[in-house]
Amino acid sequence: MADIISLLPDHVANQIAAGEVIQRPASVVKELLENAIDAGAHQIQLLIKDAGKTMIQVIDNGTGMSITDVRLAFERHATSKIKSADDLFSISSKGFRGEALASIAAIAHVEVHTKTEGDEIGTCLKISGSEVNDQEVSVVPKGTSIAVKNLFFNVPARRNFLKSDKVELRHIIDEFHRVVLSHPEVKFLFFQNGSELFSIPVSNFRKRIANVFGNKIEEKLIPVEEMTSVAGLEGFVVKPEFAKKSRGQQFFFVNRRFIKSPFLHHAICNAFEGLIRDQYHPGYFLHIQIDPKTIDINIHPTKTEVKFEEEQHLYAIIKSMVKHSLGMFQVTPVLDFDRDPGLDTPYSLQQKNPKQMPSVEIDSSFNPFNQGGKSQNKVAKSSWETLYSGLDIPASPINTDEELKLAIEQTPKVFQLFKKYIVTTTRSGLLIINQHRAHKRVLYEAFLTSITKKNINSQQLMFPKEILLSNDQIALFKEYDENLSAMGFIVKRQKNKLTITGVPSICEDSQVGQLFEDVLASTESSEHFDSFSQGDYIAKLMARSLSIATNKSLSTLEQQALVDDLFACKEPLTCPFNRKIFITLDKEELDKKLN
Ligand code: ADP
Ligand code: MG
Repeated sequence: MADIISLLPDHVANQIAAGEVIQRPASVVKELLENAIDAGAHQIQLLIKDAGKTMIQVIDNGTGMSITDVRLAFERHATSKIKSADDLFSISSKGFRGEALASIAAIAHVEVHTKTEGDEIGTCLKISGSEVNDQEVSVVPKGTSIAVKNLFFNVPARRNFLKSDKVELRHIIDEFHRVVLSHPEVKFLFFQNGSELFSIPVSNFRKRIANVFGNKIEEKLIPVEEMTSVAGLEGFVVKPEFAKKSRGQQFFFVNRRFIKSPFLHHAICNAFEGLIRDQYHPGYFLHIQIDPKTIDINIHPTKTEVKFEEEQHLYAIIKSMVKHSLGMFQVTPVLDFDRDPGLDTPYSLQQKNPKQMPSVEIDSSFNPFNQGGKSQNKVAKSSWETLYSGLDIPASPINTDEELKLAIEQTPKVFQLFKKYIVTTTRSGLLIINQHRAHKRVLYEAFLTSITKKNINSQQLMFPKEILLSNDQIALFKEYDENLSAMGFIVKRQKNKLTITGVPSICEDSQVGQLFEDVLASTESSEHFDSFSQGDYIAKLMARSLSIATNKSLSTLEQQALVDDLFACKEPLTCPFNRKIFITLDKEELDKKLN
């Protein structure tokens, strides 16, 4: 028999490959947006006509391509992102298979304009059905613009298979969202038939979610965070009462790549069990940072599936982390007592002593309103006998005569009521303390003290925390920088990126992200309150952000420590926002009521 095997011509091979990578206009959008991200763009525009059926164009301000590179870019297996098979295990780019542009050019009319930083003049390349039609110089700014017209012009079966504009547009928006959500540091614009669909400014992850799904979603988000030796996890889940019937708000990102994982999805559903009704689905936005060596993203041509080496472990971590956060924010009826404590702390941190409740050194005579006279004596606050002694509680609308005379019983009794109040006994009766306000007072005075006395008390973060800032936030940060470092924050800023390596010791590692968001929330959105200086203002914001929430269970030790710290404060009667912190109920009142 004669030989019958022959190699397929390139354009046929490309067309076959295209069948896998490019299923519909949305696939082109995904590939082009990802290439723009890989090219380091910080502004990306997407323009489409007729849901991408007529035209899809992506314009970026990334690196651009040289004359020779732009030709090579359209060859199959042509990529600048990996060089050897080994590189497959350390992938940090979106692309690496080098087949998207070749596939697209096999089944559409493509026109590229591109210029690199170093080149004086750019290139324009026209290519269709895998054939280069034209290459000439082009006067364009640095970056790349790729226009893809008449998709599937030579594959009628595919073209006919496309759905209505509405459906195809939905797919495009979905792909757009996935890229947009994984890159809050990039600005995006999206036009359909000449009108703007999205304009998304640079921001942080939380705000980016709001930019995509509307501002209302922000208050529905519960932060989740966990650092383990297997992976770093960070993001948000949507409060169960806002679960939806659609699955539109479910996002896993692995090393900033959107992926689908029915297995990990199941972990989240499992954590939500019993909290949402049948047929409703939990919402989540979860970034998984993981060593690329422990995953394989090359198991599917569109790279939306990932194989994890430690899948089971990751499952357990995610489930436990989500349950824990739901518990912390009191959306579950009971806290998760099954939580495996081994998952709580990275191994390297387990050796360290846990941080206790805030222990604060207070200059009892410090008065923020009177910068003059200072005395150095500090209130001893370790023993209950001395709890109220030596306190100079200032006059206030409350009649404090009784309170000043309070003396604590030898054996303290303290318990929590409604997860909101701490009740303790004194010789003359009962003391009922609002835990949230008490803690605000303690933190506020601690921050003020470090600012004014410059007794900086910071603690290295095990994992430096990076935060991306919007322009407004950069401006605020510049203003606050000095006071923040006086408070014990060690922060470096590079353009719109903050790297936090140290925090005041009264701040928990896990609180850092939220704290910076609260403090750098744009001034217009935060409500105004009286403050006599910028330091005072920040101290109040911090105290509010870091304070123990109402609804948080406290151990007896924590309750005692808080009461101790409160009465070591200069002004234990009111919180920094002028609300009453505690009330007393003495024997006389009880006798009267029970008469
Ligand atoms: P891959 O992304 O897998 O490398 P592609 O076919 O998508 O494969 O792209 C081929 C190559 O073309 C890329 O590796 C990159 O060097 C170059 N390229 C593609 N798009 C851009 C762009 N927007 N800006 C700069 N270079 C690009
Ligand atoms: Mg690519």
